[in-house]
Amino acid sequence: MRILVTGGAGFIGSHLIDRLMEQGHEVLCLDNFYTGHKRNIEKWLGHPYFECIRHDITEPIRLEVDRIYHLACPASPVHYQFNPVKTIKTNVIGTLHMLGLAKRVKARFLLASTSEVYGDPLVHPQTEEYWGNVNPIGIRSCYDEGKRVAETLTFDYHRNNGVDIRVARIFNTYGPRMFENDGRVVSNFVVQALQGIPLTVYGDGSQTRSFCYVSDLVEGLMRLMEGDYIGPVNLGNPVEYTILELAQTIQKMVNPNADIAFKPLPQDDPKKRQPDISRAKTYLGWEPLVPLQEGLTKTIADFEERLNASR
Ligand code: NAD
Ligand code: UDP
Repeated sequence: MRILVTGGAGFIGSHLIDRLMEQGHEVLCLDNFYTGHKRNIEKWLGHPYFECIRHDITEPIRLEVDRIYHLACPASPVHYQFNPVKTIKTNVIGTLHMLGLAKRVKARFLLASTSEVYGDPLVHPQTEEYWGNVNPIGIRSCYDEGKRVAETLTFDYHRNNGVDIRVARIFNTYGPRMFENDGRVVSNFVVQALQGIPLTVYGDGSQTRSFCYVSDLVEGLMRLMEGDYIGPVNLGNPVEYTILELAQTIQKMVNPNADIAFKPLPQDDPKKRQPDISRAKTYLGWEPLVPLQEGLTKTIADFEERLNASR
């Protein structure tokens, strides 16, 4: 098949591309390189079945494809808040363009949505039936509300235009290739521990997250795309940790001498997050296989190699 991956030079997109290329598909990577890098897809450059196009999805594009994995959007709060209006444009106008493309060429379209659609959830763990608790005017809204509109657009194109859709709600995912300056919690803690500087825990660290290793997540996305269930479906690891537990785990694994420094909690930071993955288990036969310790070991090794190379 000819498969388009928007945001393919990013963290999850590049791991997805590896799997799709290994399966023998023809892959088109579309990216504006805002938070992605050619390094991530370097090994496929020059391959006859691979094409990389520098393109911003807020502009329309015409392509012929069978599948669209729509991942383009900065995912780290630091980067999506840098230019919030651009983030909304990417989620709304960009998703509109990709849905228009799916409609025109009759491609199956998968939206990479997020657990952020649940906001600061009042239901725990989060099931797909929960409509969420999102601040419409806060500093996270450009992303949360942007993704909520992206889901709305996706379902309206399905209902009104017959577009074949899939919607994944991705929970916190980590792994090799996250950038040193990504700003998300796992990469921050790993880089800080490796550099011997204090691990920055925001607030008292009692807020929780559930961390999914990237290979598990990619498997879930591919099963969703090729299955019959349209979603929305939660994809994430249901094992929940407090942020302080995560800091202590990484501290122990990398550098027991590194300190933990408590910093102010960002506005609207969700207090709890844990996916109910019953739907994914039932409809996709999917559940994560990689435990946190194992995933962190691989992630730490990757960061260590990159940090050593840049020294
Ligand atoms: P990432 O920031 O590493 O990758 C996003 C990619 O999209 C980058 O390569 C970036 O350059 C590209 N991009 C951004 N805006 C673009 C635009 N206007 N036009 C073209 N390309 C653009 O993030 P990621 O962690 O790989 O996340 C991928 C997708 O998964 C995102 O849609 C994100 O919202 C979603 N998601 C990720 C997580 C997670 O924990 N990683 C959780 C929930 C949802
Ligand atoms: N966080 C932290 N220290 C950091 C970065 C993040 O304590 O250096 C916290 C953050 O406040 C949040 C959690 O870790 O409670 C996850 O943050 P991240 O930005 O990774 O993802 P999201 O908030 O979008 O789930």
